[in-house]
Amino acid sequence: MKNLFKILLVISGTILMGVFFYFVYIGLLIPYFPFLYSLNVSKDGNIYYYYSKQSELEYMKKFNPKSYISETENFHNLTFSNPIRLVILPKKKYKKFKGTGLLSTRLDGLILISKEVKKEINYPLGIFLHHEYSHLILLQRLGKLRFTLIPRWVLEGIAINSSNHYGINGYPTKSEAIKILNQKKILTSFDNFLNIQEQSVSTIKFKYTIYGILMEKILKEVPMEKLFAFLETLEDNQLFSTEASKEKVENEINKNFLKQMEKEFKISLSKTFGELLGK
Ligand SMILES: [Zn+2]
Repeated sequence: MKNLFKILLVISGTILMGVFFYFVYIGLLIPYFPFLYSLNVSKDGNIYYYYSKQSELEYMKKFNPKSYISETENFHNLTFSNPIRLVILPKKKYKKFKGTGLLSTRLDGLILISKEVKKEINYPLGIFLHHEYSHLILLQRLGKLRFTLIPRWVLEGIAINSSNHYGINGYPTKSEAIKILNQKKILTSFDNFLNIQEQSVSTIKFKYTIYGILMEKILKEVPMEKLFAFLETLEDNQLFSTEASKEKVENEINKNFLKQMEKEFKISLSKTFGELLGK
C-alpha cells in the first residue's frame, strides 16, 4: 500500500512537472519563464526591452521602436491593447525559443530579435520591427487561435504594406517582382502561390512582395474592419473541430476567405493575377 502511494506520488509529480514545462516552453507562460527574468528589463512607455548587455539595449533603441507604434495603429485602425515586449537574444537562444528568420512574433506576444540582425540587416531595423508590429497588433486583436488561421499570404501581405517593406534587404520592389513574375512564371498555381516552405530565401522574399501587392489591391476595396469581421465569423467549434486537421481548416479558410471576398467585394484572385501578369 505504501509502495503504491509512492508510485502514485511519483507519477503525479512527473505529470505536473511535464505540464509545467509544456506551458513555459511551448508558450502560454513563456513571459514568466526564467529566461526572461535572467535578462535585464527596461521600460519605455508602452515598450519593454529585454536584453543582456547595455549595448544591446542601445542597439534596439537606436531604431526608435516607439516611433512605429502610431503608424501601425493608424494603418490597422486598431490600438495595441497590451505592451510591446522586445527580446534580443543570441542566435542559439533565439532558435531555442522558436524564433524564425531574424525577427519574429511569438504567439505569446513576445517579439524576438536575433543578435544576428546586426550582421545581416544593413537597413534600418525599424522597418523589420514595424513589420512585426503588424503581426502583433493583429494577434492582440484576434487572439491566438484566429491569428494562427489567418492565411499566411494575407498576414504577410498586410505587414509588408503596413511597414512599406518593399525593395529593401533583398525584397524586390513592386515593379521588380512583377517583372520576375512575367519572366519566370514562378507562380504556377494557387498552391504554389501559398507555399513558402522549403524554398530559397530569394523566392520567399519575392513571394512576400507579391503578397504585399495583392493585399494592397484587396485593402483598397476591403476595409480592414471587414477583414476582421470575416475572421470573427469563424466559429470556435470550426477552429477546434476534431475531425478536421489544422491543415484542412486552413485550406477551408483560404477557400472561404477568397470566396467571401469574391462574393462581397467582387475581387477575384485570378483577375488580380491576370492584372499582375499583364493579361
Ligand atoms: Zn512577417
